[in-house]
Amino acid sequence: MIDVLVIGAGISGLLCATELQRAGVSVRVLDKGRGVGGRMATRRMGGGRLDHGAQFFTVREPCFQRYVDEWLKAGVIQEWFRHAPSDSNAAGYPRYCGRSGMTDVAKHLCESIKVHRSQAAVKVLRTENTWEVRTATGEVYRCRYLVVTAPVPQALTLLDTSSVDYAGLDLAALRAVRYDLGLATLAILDGPSGLANHGACPVDESPITWIADNQQKGISMDVPAVTIHASADFAEEHWDSADDVRGVLMLEAASAYLQSSVLEYSCHRWGFTLPLNPYPDAYFHNSDLSLLLAGDGFGGPRVEGAALSGLAASRALLDTLS
Ligand SMILES: Cc1cc2nc3c(=O)[nH]c(=O)nc-3n(C[C@H](O)[C@H](O)[C@H](O)COP(=O)(O)OP(=O)(O)OC[C@H]3O[C@@H](n4cnc5c(N)ncnc54)[C@H](O)[C@@H]3O)c2cc1C
Repeated sequence: MIDVLVIGAGISGLLCATELQRAGVSVRVLDKGRGVGGRMATRRMGGGRLDHGAQFFTVREPCFQRYVDEWLKAGVIQEWFRHAPSDSNAAGYPRYCGRSGMTDVAKHLCESIKVHRSQAAVKVLRTENTWEVRTATGEVYRCRYLVVTAPVPQALTLLDTSSVDYAGLDLAALRAVRYDLGLATLAILDGPSGLANHGACPVDESPITWIADNQQKGISMDVPAVTIHASADFAEEHWDSADDVRGVLMLEAASAYLQSSVLEYSCHRWGFTLPLNPYPDAYFHNSDLSLLLAGDGFGGPRVEGAALSGLAASRALLDTLS
């Protein structure tokens, strides 16, 4: 039996597992996806590569900076851009991205830890000192400590199958964590996008909020490819619309910013983008049940918040194990 099973191979779960493994703890990671990285996601389309979830990340905390420095040295990530120090909004912090897409970070972390892909955890059981996790394909994983890093509503749905009182009085605060919906339209262009600012273009006009040029970013060198994000309101309104409705509306809004025409496009729905009201602590820990919850729903919105939550959860576990 392994010491720790981490559900979720996003940045929080992978950093939690990495810290534990480096400390000599036996750890495994499960993810329901065929790929890894969760919302740090990259996709191929029409010969191009496009980041369709998180676009970049920043770093402020030394414990995350340590990893970022490792990734820079290993050539896993690169600086995409930074605003001039005079731009008070952005304060000159580097914006990092994967060298060939945001999933690069997760793929790199997975080189040193054992990750089981296409394994959706569907039921968890708590027996005396053990957690048993069953997956949709019928596999069973047993562990002493369980760390769940799925977005909070998904984590709670899973834990509800355990028939144990896992959160007590904290349950209401956990259930209160909500996320915005998201919708991305990915488009291949017949020429350069013409976007300024290194191809990173926040947009204030409904229904879109952001356009990124994956070619200028350096991940789709041969094929001009842009990612367009919609507002949460539009994503909700058009959650079930056909791509030739919602995608076309988003492309119409984006056309004012693009100097080339669209050759092909597709849309991607995100059930969870950023947590609107993260849980007040960096992770949730039920020490009686050897259960932890982590992720951006705890550490705060964005990649760094998720990373810090995963790292904090690993420290709590290491304290317990020692
Ligand atoms: C469209 C979009 C744009 C964004 N832009 C930015 C940005 O520019 N900068 C930034 O810093 N952040 C951005 N974010 C937010 C950032 O991506 C997240 O905060 C961060 O990646 C969350 O990491 P995580 O590990 O907490 O969760 P996730 O990345 O969601 O990882 C959770 C993992 O759990 C897995 N999982 C869930 N349920 C199960 C189950 N039952 N069994 C097995 N596995 C399961 C999922 O497959 C997933 O891989 C954006 C997010 C989106 C969606």
